Amino acid sequence: MFSQSIIRSTGQFWKLLFSSIAMLAGSIVPMFPSVGMGWIPGTILAAAGLAFASYSISCPNCGIRWFWKAMSNLELQGWLVWMVSRPDCPDCKKDFREN
Ligand SMILES: [Zn+2]
Repeated sequence: MFSQSIIRSTGQFWKLLFSSIAMLAGSIVPMFPSVGMGWIPGTILAAAGLAFASYSISCPNCGIRWFWKAMSNLELQGWLVWMVSRPDCPDCKKDFREN
């Protein structure tokens, strides 16, 4: 479904998935006290997931950090759509479908 996207064609989809799971787990798991993860470790896990995505998801050609750029420059509801739907880097315009 994301085959035309920069996040998929540059092989970085797993990073987005990994950080999403960390953010989700950090927000949800502390709601269940029996698991033993409190809100502080949960928040740290969620923040680590966010930081990982912000620093590791980048353009292999020009090095711009896509996740970070998307989060800081676009409307909140549009950033994910942008990253999973665009075939080219918004900065250097390299089209990764050709790889
Ligand atoms: Zn680029």
